[in-house]
Amino acid sequence: MQLARRIQAIPPYLFAEIDRKVAERRAEGVDVISFGVGDPDLPTPGFIVEELAKAAHDPSTHRYPSYYGLPAFRRAIAGFYRRRFGVELDPDTQVLPLLGSKEGIAHLPWAFVDPGDRVLVTEPGYPVYEVGAILAGGQPVHIPLRAEEAWFPAFERVGAAADGAKLLWLCYPSNPTGAVATLDQLQEAVRFAAAGDLLLAYDNAYSEITYDGFVAPSVLQAPGAMEVAVEFGSLSKIFNMTGWRIGWVVGSPVAIEALGRVKTNIDSGVFNAVQRAGVAALESGMPHLPELLATYRRRRDRIMEVFWEAGWKVDAPKGALYVWLPTPPGESSVQFTARLLDQAGVVVAPGTGYGPSGEGYIRLSLTIGDERLEEGCERVRKALVGGRA
Ligand code: PLP
Repeated sequence: MQLARRIQAIPPYLFAEIDRKVAERRAEGVDVISFGVGDPDLPTPGFIVEELAKAAHDPSTHRYPSYYGLPAFRRAIAGFYRRRFGVELDPDTQVLPLLGSKEGIAHLPWAFVDPGDRVLVTEPGYPVYEVGAILAGGQPVHIPLRAEEAWFPAFERVGAAADGAKLLWLCYPSNPTGAVATLDQLQEAVRFAAAGDLLLAYDNAYSEITYDGFVAPSVLQAPGAMEVAVEFGSLSKIFNMTGWRIGWVVGSPVAIEALGRVKTNIDSGVFNAVQRAGVAALESGMPHLPELLATYRRRRDRIMEVFWEAGWKVDAPKGALYVWLPTPPGESSVQFTARLLDQAGVVVAPGTGYGPSGEGYIRLSLTIGDERLEEGCERVRKALVGGRA
């Protein structure tokens, strides 16, 4: 048996590795506290679960869904974009439901990338942008992001790397850095994509998860975006629905049609009952959101307090579910991650899991219950003090 070259080029998924290490420690009897994966600990709001239960009792939902999703769900997505961003979408040509946004992110290159084509991957970033490009035979080209540029690309430095590129990936509010982008910055990205004849793939999975008064824009608010961009969205983080596998892509009708063609040949869509629950979620006015954001902000502030008191001089992130912190001088991401596991029994993600520019950083997820968070913070505090003694 011989594996394909394309699969050999793919590193093990970061969290599969972390899970393995945690399992090892737990087997040794260590009470491990994980700040690893960004998977909301809070439950899906009750009204969405009730809608699913009702829809699941309707046998018409038990058959194959339509390939392009329920018209009512596509209309609900368009309604969300109209109310939230002032963006008008044609639910038939500019909206496509996904089995979670990860699925569409991984499949998009199949519609745009021929073997050897370049894909511009901003990093540190969500690992699936790069892996999706590799699986389609493309050649990922890193666009490094830097703290001193607020983790936004300096397009003037991209230069020849963009020649012949087919796709550019951007994500704000950002996993893993927690950075946000303004509409002016997104306009810059749209201009860059239009000038280079590439598709701008914008990942807005955390659109509603922002703090300190920042309101995240949609890339589709930028003039000209509908011709050159698609935007990925998800119910996962906004409604605590990671296990339900439902998201969407909106934007350029050409791109939506092309990705739809890939998907109709691979999957058969999202369970209709889940889509009906998705309609209830998007049309709810999101009454759960203030409390959800207050919870994450409190957790963010608690973690920041520990690091600030230990001497870290960084701002709290303005978006997403993560705190992104530099490692102590002289300690690499992997070394600091290993030390926190050894000395504190605490799991964090090494920045290098998100690309080479993540070296010198770690990521802590805010999706951990308050009691465990408190215990984890106290252990980290002791490890930081010990490390400096
Ligand atoms: N995009 C980003 C930036 C993410 O961090 C994640 C999940 O962690 C996803 C997309 C995928 O989310 P889902 O497939 O659950 O919609």
